[in-house]
Amino acid sequence: MDERPMLSIVVPVYNEEENVRPLFEKIQAVCETIGDTYEVLFVDDGSSDATFAVLSELSKRVPQVVVIRFKENAGQTAAMAAGFEFARGERIVSMDGDLQNDPADVPKLLEKLDEGYDLVCGWRKERQDKFLTRRVPSIVANWIIGKVTGVPIHDNGCSLKAYRASVIKQVPLYGEMHRFIPAMSTVAGARIAEIVVTHHPRRFGQSKYGLGRVWRVALDIIAFKFIIFVFTPRPEIQEPSRWQRLSNVLFNPKQRAFQAAALLSVPFAILGRVLFGNANIAAFSCFGLVIALLALGWITENQIRQTSQELSALSKLARFFIFRYKRRPIRFFGPIGVLLFMFGGVLLATPIHAFLLRILNLTSVPDLGTVFVVGGILVCCFGLFGELIAFANAKRVKDWTVETLLNMDV
Ligand code: UDP
Ligand code: MG
Repeated sequence: MDERPMLSIVVPVYNEEENVRPLFEKIQAVCETIGDTYEVLFVDDGSSDATFAVLSELSKRVPQVVVIRFKENAGQTAAMAAGFEFARGERIVSMDGDLQNDPADVPKLLEKLDEGYDLVCGWRKERQDKFLTRRVPSIVANWIIGKVTGVPIHDNGCSLKAYRASVIKQVPLYGEMHRFIPAMSTVAGARIAEIVVTHHPRRFGQSKYGLGRVWRVALDIIAFKFIIFVFTPRPEIQEPSRWQRLSNVLFNPKQRAFQAAALLSVPFAILGRVLFGNANIAAFSCFGLVIALLALGWITENQIRQTSQELSALSKLARFFIFRYKRRPIRFFGPIGVLLFMFGGVLLATPIHAFLLRILNLTSVPDLGTVFVVGGILVCCFGLFGELIAFANAKRVKDWTVETLLNMDV
């Protein structure tokens, strides 16, 4: 194809050999009725079945079929991100490759988009998945995501969405971020709408996710709240109050990561001073935590600033979070921090501490517990600030490697 198509459909597929052909036929039929020029980008996420064979055969026959094959499985989010990057249309639609979404809903989504939105989300009101293991966790998660992010969408997990290309191309996507596209899009200033879409049960192949995702999504929600807090652009206040002016003097309003650290450290500063006095380990660890948090905030702020300088290389710390912890440091440091925290809590709250104190020969009761509690909080915060650094670098380092490109000249 020489000229840019007007509409791009992005479909991530991982081992969907039976689904891709019937899905393409449905998409094709719908696109013909819409009448715009279009392309369908299938992103083969390292399938090990015949998916790629089917797709390449299809791409030889149909010029609208673009195939992006990854070298290895990189996950649904990476596949969607690659699709968005290669898409040439002004309007983009994403959907699952397993026929659970219905291409017949595409015209409705596009109509809504043209009413002046940047993102239109599908809502699988009559969702055809298992009730207890899939629908209940999803309802709870969506409710929490709505409360936490302030973007009250019923069904964040629905892949059937329509986007204005100029907006979605700016949204950083990595990890399992595709579930947070609506919240993430607000970082790019998107106007969001939602419409009810049809959902079918899976007929061929298997779902790629199990119950494990409940725990991962829970951690993600915490991390994203933090990311959104730091990165959402705030409108400039015309007439700042006295308090706002004071806080602008104390903290540079542009340094949101440092501000967050300062905010986080306030309760510990008070706790250390008021509750524990100043001459024991508990007070000392609270003081240490305050210093450590401020340092963490300051380092993170510098890291984020570096990413805005085009030519600067990826720092060691950014590499650490991105490669060592696969961009999701909270998934590793979060649970460890929580364990330490709970262990400390147990020490503080139960008679165990008396026993431990006797054998360890410590002087004051709250000492050991507090050290663990404080350590746990610090480890969690380390993971959280790591998330900020990974997020800031999202566009620089990609999670995927393209092995083959069909029907697309780069
Ligand atoms: N998928 C993918 N890479 C993965 C897992 C899933 O590209 O590592 C694709 C999968 O082929 C499907 C879509 O993402 O097109 C949604 O996956 P699935 O149907 O398994 O999720 P569910 O509908 O059960 O939430
Ligand atoms: Mg599915």
